[in-house]
Amino acid sequence: MSMDLAVCNLVKAYGDRRVLSGLSLSLAVGATLAVTGPSGAGKSTLLQIVGSLDVADTGTVTLGEHQVTGITGDAAAAFRACVVGFIFQDHYLLPQLSAIENILVPAAAAARLKSTPTKIDRARLVDRAQTLLEKVGLGDRASAFPAELSGGERQRIAVARSMMNHPALLLCDEPTGSLDEHTGHTVLDLILHTAQDENASVLMVTHNAQHAARMDRTMRLSDGLLVAV
Ligand code: ADP
Repeated sequence: MSMDLAVCNLVKAYGDRRVLSGLSLSLAVGATLAVTGPSGAGKSTLLQIVGSLDVADTGTVTLGEHQVTGITGDAAAAFRACVVGFIFQDHYLLPQLSAIENILVPAAAAARLKSTPTKIDRARLVDRAQTLLEKVGLGDRASAFPAELSGGERQRIAVARSMMNHPALLLCDEPTGSLDEHTGHTVLDLILHTAQDENASVLMVTHNAQHAARMDRTMRLSDGLLVAV
């Protein structure tokens, strides 16, 4: 099943402040796109609408067979848990859960929306989380708590968590914005390698020109529209 992303004519205003003015974009399966632009241009708003965390005034978002526009309730929850993955500037790890338990959180969200997982399912999910830990180079830190990890390691756990339910599209909002340059490069590498490995597309907001250059395409959000860079 094709999971191309198609965003058509999005308009979004907060009060009388128009943020998106008929924005369109398309992203093929497995492709990567950087979105740049000044603070306040609407980059996070775009990601939130694509991820069904916010609602556009008009326009449509489609990801494969998923009509994102207008979904609510459990359908929206299932879309966020199973079809898209999120990585934010902050890691948002739960401090009371170990690294592997944090990676399993999206699986718990998905399980709520399905039948109760069996014991075999649970073993399979733990295997999946451990595989992801290894992919991000932290295979030996499964039982470490966030407070015992560095900022870069925490963000690597967030990368692993975002992939837990095999998302078709990874939505990244300045995922390296809180990291030093070297650590930021490492985390970007992990995002791109993991996404490629799992055939997920990547839509990434970044202020880092070097990081944007690593993506297939870069577009700049300006006056509510995307323009090719
Ligand atoms: P960027 O990510 O490019 O910095 P945002 O998408 O966060 O920009 O914000 C775009 C504009 O919309 C800003 O002026 C911001 O203040 C406004 N905005 C964003 N979210 C809300 C909201 N929930 N309510 C009101 N205004 C908002």
